[in-house]
Amino acid sequence: MRHLPYFCRGEVVKGFGRGSKELGIPTANFSEQVVESFPSDISTGIYYGWACVGNGDVHKMVLSIGWNPFYKNFKKSVETHIIHTFKEDFYGEILSIVIIGYIRPEKNFDSLEALISAIQEDIEEAKRQLDLPEHLKLKEDNFFHLPEGKIVNNH
Ligand code: ADP
Ligand code: MG
Repeated sequence: MRHLPYFCRGEVVKGFGRGSKELGIPTANFSEQVVESFPSDISTGIYYGWACVGNGDVHKMVLSIGWNPFYKNFKKSVETHIIHTFKEDFYGEILSIVIIGYIRPEKNFDSLEALISAIQEDIEEAKRQLDLPEHLKLKEDNFFHLPEGKIVNNH
């Protein structure tokens, strides 16, 4: 797929209260500025890759690129669910991600149960894909190992 792997770094901001956390699937939202820096023709849908908060460990993630209801579906939103249990929220921290592969397009679901089970399947698919040697090697990419004190905003 075009644009992949795609490396991106930016601040985690408040989302628009879709209640992802209540579903057990919190999604760390990037700011509008970071989203605007994405290629405009990148497909909406669900992706998998690696993610790291601040200077923390690199974890598997699933990511959604979707239409942002806050802007009447005119702008995109980019939301990362990290497959890891964090002790605390990390709003305001720098999230670094590499988007590696595409899982599926965006879909509408008839029920909350159907949505949750689709996301669980996405997570399982992401875990399997990321164990492949060609994908594992991106976990070790220098992108995730920043020199101390470097200013990282969007770069
Ligand atoms: P919002 O609408 O503000 O994005 P969410 O319900 O999607 O709210 O929760 C997202 C927040 O939850 C993130 O910004 C982050 O601070 C926190 N969080 C805790 N664990 C995770 C995780 N595993 N993946 C992503 N975000 C997480
Ligand atoms: Mg969110």
